[in-house]
Amino acid sequence: MARIAVGGFQHETNTFAPTMADYAAFESGGGWPGICFGAGIEAAVAGANIPAAGAIEALHTAGHTTVGLAWAAASPSDRVTRDAYERIAGAMIERLQAALPVDAVYLDLHGAMVAEHHDDGEGELLARVRQVVGERIPIVISLDLHANVTRRMFALADGMVIYRTYPHVDMAVTGARAARLLGDMLATGRRPQRAYHVFDYLTGIPSQCTFIEPCQGIYAYLAGLEEKHGVSLSFAPGFPMADFAECGMSICGYGNENAALQAAMAALRERIEAAEKEFALDLLSPEAALARAMKTGTVGLPTVLADTQDNPGAGGNGDTTGLLAAMLALRAQDAVLGMLIDPPSAKFAHEVGIGNTAEFALGAISGVPGIVPVHKRFKVEALGDGNFVGTGPFYRGFKLHMGPMACLQSVDAPGVRVVLATTKCQTADQEMFRHVGIEPRRQRIVAVKSSVHFRADFQPIAREVLVVKAPGPALADPAEFAWTKLRPGIRLNPLGPRYAG
Ligand SMILES: [Zn+2]
Repeated sequence: MARIAVGGFQHETNTFAPTMADYAAFESGGGWPGICFGAGIEAAVAGANIPAAGAIEALHTAGHTTVGLAWAAASPSDRVTRDAYERIAGAMIERLQAALPVDAVYLDLHGAMVAEHHDDGEGELLARVRQVVGERIPIVISLDLHANVTRRMFALADGMVIYRTYPHVDMAVTGARAARLLGDMLATGRRPQRAYHVFDYLTGIPSQCTFIEPCQGIYAYLAGLEEKHGVSLSFAPGFPMADFAECGMSICGYGNENAALQAAMAALRERIEAAEKEFALDLLSPEAALARAMKTGTVGLPTVLADTQDNPGAGGNGDTTGLLAAMLALRAQDAVLGMLIDPPSAKFAHEVGIGNTAEFALGAISGVPGIVPVHKRFKVEALGDGNFVGTGPFYRGFKLHMGPMACLQSVDAPGVRVVLATTKCQTADQEMFRHVGIEPRRQRIVAVKSSVHFRADFQPIAREVLVVKAPGPALADPAEFAWTKLRPGIRLNPLGPRYAG
């Protein structure tokens, strides 16, 4: 049985976002477990929907032993600082050197990391790992569906497997698939044939959801091709907010028979090329979305609004105020917005105390141009310490530490409530409302700071889901970003304009 080094370094970089990921961001994890090392990795991720958890469990079940390196993740944001990158990558490499000899390496990576000093964060890390273990030791990685897979990553990894769901309910499952791919390589002593292709157009993240077309159909087709051809296939719609040359959608595949692999890849490529127009987005202004939600949402079956351009899962800081301001102006009823990430207001709410009213200045903490605080009177309805466990399909088993939380009720528009939290985290679990006394199902309108992950827990209770385009840093339409480094000729949205360079 083999001895396998296991590590992880996850960051999804929106190079247009307001704040960078420093070492402290990886220490806190922002919803993920904080940075951990060695044997501590297994304990930190056990039982959670995390790739490393699924991989470690599958490797042990297959009789292999694992050696922990370092595992770290942070909330999506602007680039990983040079200091954080070098400390974390350095710890991984140091521990890998100390662990030699190993039979294989598994890494839990995101695939869209840009560091201050390396545009292709994962490619650089893989090069360093390869340097330590040499050419003969297999390296297999798992990646997020939002990976911008680079030629360097493809060349350096012997195998890559990528999530197939967005919301990512299959993170642990993907880790287990990576472990099986690695196990096959160790059993046969052979590296599989591999193939890779990059597409010519970018897609906005709300349209990448696998609950809806075209991705629902594409992933079903992909699974059918794997079965038919006996190969491993992955599709990464990519993360269209990372300004570097290799940002974009890609597919990759692995198999022992090259002809079968090429046939499967060609079919998948054609299917995705043909789906381009289906990736076009349908977005509503806050006013239009609320006008509709006030008609369709009912207590028991709320209409859910996705404040997609402030998604903390895509580099937003959860502190924009456009949708909240519209809810107040239109005096929505039985309406709640969460989680607004506003540490000073959450702290202030705890000072004001339950049942008391005060003037708050909500949001606009991170300095996104054009975003202003909401200055209004609110009553403090409930308070929480922010410590609870996720129960929805995405955050199930995550021990969440959101810092001081509060539920506020507007004085002028008493039908509107806002849930405040201190630690940046995507609103993708109903417990984030329940922790401060809000049962989402008992609302008519539930607005969430999320693009897609919320759907795993909220779509089952929703009358309908509307994607709202309120001002924020995580632009839903990639054509709106001020790109500087993309590959010339790539279309900036489905059937859209080409990037001139
Ligand atoms: Zn993702």
